[in-house]
Amino acid sequence: MRIAIAGGGIGGLTAALALHAAGHRDVRVFEAAAELRPLGVGLNILPSAVRELHALGLAPAVEGHAVTTAELAFYTRRGDLVWSEPRGRFAGHRFPQYSLHRGLLQQDLADAVAARLGHGTVETGRPVTGYTVHDDSASGTTVTVHTGSGDVEADLLIGADGLHSAVRAAMHPDDGEPDTNGMWMWRGTSRAAPFLTGASMAVLGDDRAKFVVYPIRPADESGLALINWVTGRPADGPSAAQGLADRKKEVLAQFGDWKVPWTDVPGLVAAASQIHEYPMLDRAPLPTWNDGPVTLIGDAAHPMYPVGSNGATQAIIDGRAVAWHLHDAPDVPTALRRYESERLPATRGVQEANRRMGPERVIDLAWQRAPEGFDRIEDVFTAEELQRISDDYASTAGFTVEALDADSPYGTGEPR
Ligand SMILES: Cc1cc2nc3c(=O)[nH]c(=O)nc-3n(C[C@H](O)[C@H](O)[C@H](O)COP(=O)(O)OP(=O)(O)OC[C@H]3O[C@@H](n4cnc5c(N)ncnc54)[C@H](O)[C@@H]3O)c2cc1C
Repeated sequence: MRIAIAGGGIGGLTAALALHAAGHRDVRVFEAAAELRPLGVGLNILPSAVRELHALGLAPAVEGHAVTTAELAFYTRRGDLVWSEPRGRFAGHRFPQYSLHRGLLQQDLADAVAARLGHGTVETGRPVTGYTVHDDSASGTTVTVHTGSGDVEADLLIGADGLHSAVRAAMHPDDGEPDTNGMWMWRGTSRAAPFLTGASMAVLGDDRAKFVVYPIRPADESGLALINWVTGRPADGPSAAQGLADRKKEVLAQFGDWKVPWTDVPGLVAAASQIHEYPMLDRAPLPTWNDGPVTLIGDAAHPMYPVGSNGATQAIIDGRAVAWHLHDAPDVPTALRRYESERLPATRGVQEANRRMGPERVIDLAWQRAPEGFDRIEDVFTAEELQRISDDYASTAGFTVEALDADSPYGTGEPR
């Protein structure tokens, strides 16, 4: 079977590896970027996706440069604790949660693709611009993939080309631009002292402004860790600041007076080696991800606000799921229908929960109920309410202990 994948990001590369593990050898990945460079800053992979990396034999490589996340904790902007919970192995899961640099994860996946499928598998500088489906009673349903440098014939096209997916646009021409909630993010990394457990992910603030902070490399011999931080604030558009020094000034104008007892928020911003700015974007859930032999995975299928650590997580699971259903079904359209009926409702729930700010809701509620702060969190929430907010998100995103103690539903990943 001739398989084309649009996009060599987290989802597309995982899909290539999962397809290879399922016995497919004619897999080509068309990537728009001229080269795969370690772009982005930090992200998290939840145990539900680490299980899939494990099945593909990738967990040791990824773990080698990740922080094994110990806890997720929510604080007010003054540093008062609202809620904390252990994560991954620390919560009794069989698999850990990892915090790591997106570029290193993408590089691990790309290295594995080169080693297992061959060096020419990812064709960089070759954007997919659209496709044409052919329904031929003799040869079955096939697809012509239009790329920046010529057409390619395939039996299956997987659109893994991210938030601004060309495959999605061709499938749903009326979809338009991504939606925004009016929040803008600065993402930065800084070398700084570890805080709390040394492997904590902390979310500070309220619905006026947030500061999310977690290490993505453990402390080195000098005692400093690589710390990833992300801010969210409402804004009409990007800030005028361009260079690093001006961006630091902008971020400090908003967060320079935040004082929490266990880390130095202004100091982190001042120590940043890079600061990127992004709008917070998603898209509404689609009615279908399929068009004959064409399907969507990852952000192309279900872009979501980056709260709750589900962007890369769900893309990895999609990659494994689509390969599994192909192996199991009599033909491509049936496989894609099964893939969609499993994954579309599951990810729609996460997209919708993230529009309500996922588990971060607890600090928004704390600020709305106690704007002057509180002495005891029990005066603001009952323990049951806090637990319920966390449990509801975990069950929507499929990472309850019960769900994860089982083996992967998509097999071991051993080559067939
Ligand atoms: C450069 C970059 C930096 C990012 N940084 C972060 C970050 O720091 N933290 C975070 O949480 N998330 C980040 N993300 C988003 C995150 O990677 C995704 O939300 C998540 O991993 C889902 O993966 P995906 O494979 O669906 O999409 P992505 O990982 O976004 O991959 C999509 C891939 O498709 C390629 N592409 C786009 N259009 C086309 C086209 N027409 N034809 C062929 N290829 C195309 C892109 O170059 C990219 O390689 C970043 C994404 C990108 C592209």
